[in-house]
Amino acid sequence: MPTFVIVGASLAGAKAAETLRDEGFDGQIVLLGTEMERPYERPPLSKGYLLGNDERESVYVHPAGWYAEHDVDLRVGVTVTGIDRAVSAVLTSAGSIVPYDKLLLTTGASPRRLNFPGSDRPEVLYLRTVQDSDRLRAAFQARPRVAVAGAGWIGLETTAAARSAGCPVTVLEPQPGALQEQIGPELGTIFADLHRSHGVNFRFGERAVEFQPGLVITSAGAEVPADLLVVGIGAAPNDELAALAGLEVGNGVLTDEALRTTDPDIFAAGDVANSFNPLLGYRVRVEHWANALNGGPVAARSMLGQPVVYDPVPYFYTDQYDLGMECAGLPTPGTYDEVAYRGDRSSLEFIAFWLSGGKVVAGMNVNVWDVNDDIQSLIRSARQVDLSRLTNPDIPLPEV
Ligand SMILES: Cc1cc2nc3c(=O)[nH]c(=O)nc-3n(C[C@H](O)[C@H](O)[C@H](O)COP(=O)(O)OP(=O)(O)OC[C@H]3O[C@@H](n4cnc5c(N)ncnc54)[C@H](O)[C@@H]3O)c2cc1C
Repeated sequence: MPTFVIVGASLAGAKAAETLRDEGFDGQIVLLGTEMERPYERPPLSKGYLLGNDERESVYVHPAGWYAEHDVDLRVGVTVTGIDRAVSAVLTSAGSIVPYDKLLLTTGASPRRLNFPGSDRPEVLYLRTVQDSDRLRAAFQARPRVAVAGAGWIGLETTAAARSAGCPVTVLEPQPGALQEQIGPELGTIFADLHRSHGVNFRFGERAVEFQPGLVITSAGAEVPADLLVVGIGAAPNDELAALAGLEVGNGVLTDEALRTTDPDIFAAGDVANSFNPLLGYRVRVEHWANALNGGPVAARSMLGQPVVYDPVPYFYTDQYDLGMECAGLPTPGTYDEVAYRGDRSSLEFIAFWLSGGKVVAGMNVNVWDVNDDIQSLIRSARQVDLSRLTNPDIPLPEV
């Protein structure tokens, strides 16, 4: 009876285990995770759960009994410390050796950390785990003055939650605007304005360089009153295990389009995987929920020897205040030469399209629903579009 081991009791890992059983795999499945929790989803941690609207139980991928019912050997609080490829086994922090026939790495990513005077103080907080979210929610209760390092997704979602809790918030961002690297200046400005309209103070072009109780000092020498500093400066892939085992890594574990690493018995999915995407024509590491949700099952089928090709249009969503949006594609600066809009930007009900050479490479629907599949189809088709039809809300997207 073969044993499939999954390292990382995460969304991607749990979905891979589920798919293995759905596909009829009747061997042993061992799911190992550092955290003391069974697999859970992280998006609510900076939104509904942080706001206190979602119950703890709602974040988990499966009900507590699911793992035993499906004969999945979930071991929480166990860190894999090494992969011995010569004997096909992983070594754990508990001192055990777990042999595998196939191995899946879903070890995710870890927040980048600040390192400056005061950065190790308890008032400097990060957001990755459910405990981090609990800590932040509790801290917001006292309505502290909050400084946020980083105007990326985590920083801005946390900002929205802090404002909703009544905290004054200052966001420090070394770039000249919000979300520059994620969606470029055009749409970044719209998000910054949204936050400004909720009373958020931005300090662009400045980074935090020191924290003292009650104070953040910025790279411009400014003193920003802050009882709490929340850090959202990006995440790095947890690929050390793979590197130590001699697998090829580079901004994550390198895989082909079937999520196979350079070892045919080892696979990777989710935030940790830097995978060749045939649709895009290059390798990409995507730190988004949908990539974990869909990549885990694809990796599972690949482990079973099924012919799979993982070529998703990257997908991301966010909720901030009353704004909900979905984004398809990767609209990073340099990948597009034009941004076009359909709908009303001033009332925050619109679709933005990023185009390159007349083709849609990414699209974002803001407070407009049931169109993201159509946007993804446009991207996937890679065809030239007529801009006047693309921006005309009377023409359904499939007919553009
Ligand atoms: C606060 C927050 C909000 C987010 N909001 C959104 C959103 O709105 N929309 C969106 O698209 N995406 C969002 N994301 C991103 C999304 O949650 C991630 O892309 C997703 O969680 C990645 O899942 P994963 O399965 O790859 O790994 P992870 O969720 O990172 O889980 C990996 C797990 O592996 C464990 N692990 C690591 N190393 C080892 C080891 N050696 N041994 C055992 N276990 C190990 C880790 O402890 C962790 O539990 C958000 C992320 C965060 C943190």
